[in-house]
Amino acid sequence: MQSSFSHSPAVTALKGVGAALALKLERLGIVSIQDLLFHLPTRYQDRTRIIPIGTLRPGDECVIQGTIVASDIQMGRRRSLLCRIQDGSAGTLTLRFFHFSAAQKNTLAVGSEIRCFGEVRPGPGGLEMVHPEYRASNAQGLTPVEESLTPIYPMTEGLQQSRVRTLVQQALTWLETGSVSELLPESVRRQWRLPELKASLIYLHAPPVDANQHLLLEGLHPAQRRLAFEELLAHHLTLLQLRHKVQENGAPLLPPTHQLTAEFLAQLPFRLTTAQQRVGEEVSADLKKPLPMLRLVQGDVGSGKTVVAALAALQTVENGYQAAVMVPTEILAEQHFINFSQWMEPLGIKLAWLAGKVKGKQRVAQLAAIADGSAQIVIGTHALFQEEVRFYNLGLAVIDEQHRFGVHQRLSLREKGRDGKRSPHQLIMTATPIPRTLTMSAYADLDCSVIDELPPGRTPVNTVVIEDSRRDQVIERVRVACAEGRQAYWVCTLIEESEALQCQAAEVAEVTLKELLPELRIGLVHGRMKAQEKTEIMRLFKAAELDLLVATTVIEVGVDVPNASVMIIENPERLGLSQLHQLRGRVGRGSVESYCVLMYHAPLSKQGRERLAVMRETTDGFRIAEKDLELRGPGEILGTRQTGMMQFRIADLQRDADLLDRVRQAANQLSNQPEIMQAVTRRWLGHHDEYGHV
Ligand code: ADP
Ligand code: MG
Repeated sequence: MQSSFSHSPAVTALKGVGAALALKLERLGIVSIQDLLFHLPTRYQDRTRIIPIGTLRPGDECVIQGTIVASDIQMGRRRSLLCRIQDGSAGTLTLRFFHFSAAQKNTLAVGSEIRCFGEVRPGPGGLEMVHPEYRASNAQGLTPVEESLTPIYPMTEGLQQSRVRTLVQQALTWLETGSVSELLPESVRRQWRLPELKASLIYLHAPPVDANQHLLLEGLHPAQRRLAFEELLAHHLTLLQLRHKVQENGAPLLPPTHQLTAEFLAQLPFRLTTAQQRVGEEVSADLKKPLPMLRLVQGDVGSGKTVVAALAALQTVENGYQAAVMVPTEILAEQHFINFSQWMEPLGIKLAWLAGKVKGKQRVAQLAAIADGSAQIVIGTHALFQEEVRFYNLGLAVIDEQHRFGVHQRLSLREKGRDGKRSPHQLIMTATPIPRTLTMSAYADLDCSVIDELPPGRTPVNTVVIEDSRRDQVIERVRVACAEGRQAYWVCTLIEESEALQCQAAEVAEVTLKELLPELRIGLVHGRMKAQEKTEIMRLFKAAELDLLVATTVIEVGVDVPNASVMIIENPERLGLSQLHQLRGRVGRGSVESYCVLMYHAPLSKQGRERLAVMRETTDGFRIAEKDLELRGPGEILGTRQTGMMQFRIADLQRDADLLDRVRQAANQLSNQPEIMQAVTRRWLGHHDEYGHV
């Protein structure tokens, strides 16, 4: 279909845009004039008011005006020009320049009247502005302050704000006569009181003198809300389109026969919780439909998701189809393989397993079993995506711990099992509870079930926060716990994003702990060890032949050793809350009281303190996730791999959470207007529609 904006000229039609500038703009996703108009300010500077120096606080970005009362060159580590400025209010402000010409030094002489714009920071002798923009008074005095807020645009290297501002001015002139299509039907706009597109764009690029600056700075102005609405709608529609595309395919019918599932439940050593039963039934009902299931199961760590996956796999096998279970790490793949083998072999079901480490003859054999259908359930890592893997008839793909995978991987496993016009059912499981706002926006293509209950008999983990200067006491605690027959984890966290360094840190910790705790049997696992070694160590730990397991965050996900009841996490301040929650979920799986010691390195930032306090106060994964969202934003929670799709130009999931419900309703209202749907998604997501491919 022709884009309904094909009439928007290229940016090169604007004055002063040559090939070089066009290239830079393209890096920002700006190709047409319309793109430029949708390149919205991320914030505004207020240069309309002069702020009294006496009221300044660090972090303020503002205009001040006053007289220079001292101007000196300071030698020292870096030669700099320091000017003290006073305005008659209490206090003075220092201007600091590291680079300055003789002419500048003259302008900035004692007695000069000067106006500056910059960010206020604490300095050695009180508040400072470093390299502020400034203008000195001339014969006519100072020019008037700006009349409206100054928009600040997202930037790329080699491009200046002022340059973009002048281009936007030109684009706005074009907008007076040209047009951008209003895509929101009037009924929708009226229902939610959304202003018109054109007026909103003009308002945001050039807020009028009397604009409600407070609302604008907060991102809550109706013009901003209107655009945020449309942007959220675009994301939502993309995911819905994805879902429609998949569901056009149809899926194998997998009605429950209860042959295998009943037998399985009978041999389980426990009864399903009510939540497991409910979610199990939701999944079962999806499987008997002729449309591919697209279901997300959320359940806190330890809520028993694996059993739900097993039930779904059995219902698939009952119908003569294969089921695949994909997990993010080899350790987890092996653990699932062992669990599933114990459950499935008595039922006469054949399993295959595939991971990077499965090589040579063994690999050939596994691949053959997957291809000829003799393997009924296949467990594996992302190795399952590989070209060489061919399923005989994949009916169900289970993706465990989905937060570790990107959207693309999720889609590509679905592709794998595609058989002509039929797609496999998909069950996606995550232990990182996702705040509702995120589920509604990031997973709009999925139905959602929640296992909101833990199996009985669990005692909540006691969490303590301790500075690492008390390391000796912590080590003593480990000694005592292990002497009582418990097992413990000692987790070394990520160092500056480097896996190699993290592994090294774990190696060092292992050596030190072995010296200090000679009576304990201590093992080590980290990501750089051979998979076989890792598995062997995990096996020993699980069999209680090791007391203490020193590990990197590789054990974050899914590992289940109920007798382990103590966990020490070094430098927890480096991790996100959801990740800490995952780690902590490794303990507290049995009936003994468990401890998690968060051993931080001082000093902690304010946010760091707040985060550790959350961990101490609650073990509720949903609350922790909400808090994480609040403190760190959606990208971190969904994992970096998913951030691409969660980067909004103007919407902010937290601030605009209340729009999501309306967006969903609007999406329904538009469902019979494919041209509009397409135009909206293209306008906002045209540049990264790669995740729109199915
Ligand atoms: P997660 O949801 O974190 O994947 P798992 O499926 O690994 O949790 O289950 C955690 C532990 O709880 C396992 O040892 C599992 O056997 C056990 N479990 C699961 N469901 C129940 C239940 N209904 N009653 C008792 N224990 C259960
Ligand atoms: Mg699990």
